[in-house]
Amino acid sequence: MKKKIAMVAHDEKKQEMLEWATFNKKNLEDHYIFATGTTGRLLEETLGIEIYKLRSGPLGGDQQIGAMIAEGEIDLVIFMWDPMHALPHDSDIKALLRICMVYNVPVACNRSSADYLISSPLLQQDYQPKVPDYLEHIQRTIK
Ligand code: PGA
Repeated sequence: MKKKIAMVAHDEKKQEMLEWATFNKKNLEDHYIFATGTTGRLLEETLGIEIYKLRSGPLGGDQQIGAMIAEGEIDLVIFMWDPMHALPHDSDIKALLRICMVYNVPVACNRSSADYLISSPLLQQDYQPKVPDYLEHIQRTIK
């Protein structure tokens, strides 16, 4: 069952992402991979597999992934963000993490979580995450 996986790594985490992806190349090859611009370029060069590259994260790539999540087009996210540095697109980072919560999309933020996700048997199944019912929000009365 091909999944749509989004991958994002901040500059301080890119090496770790590449190592992780190289180790898991066989698993990743079975799926569609979307990535922010620079992460995607490096993954493509390193793995030699096709990556659907979006804009660079600070140039809107995180938001593009967020929009795909809102449209139900992403099954899981590997997001290796940097906990040690403030980045100019902090609001985009928060927004991406938030939209994963809104739509109950699994998101791994470090290597060990990514290991668990990529080895999940659910990857081979038609798994539909249970999305909370937002009808009350949509239909709320505005005074
Ligand atoms: P990048 O973006 O892959 O284009 O570097 C990642 C990010 O910083 O969000």
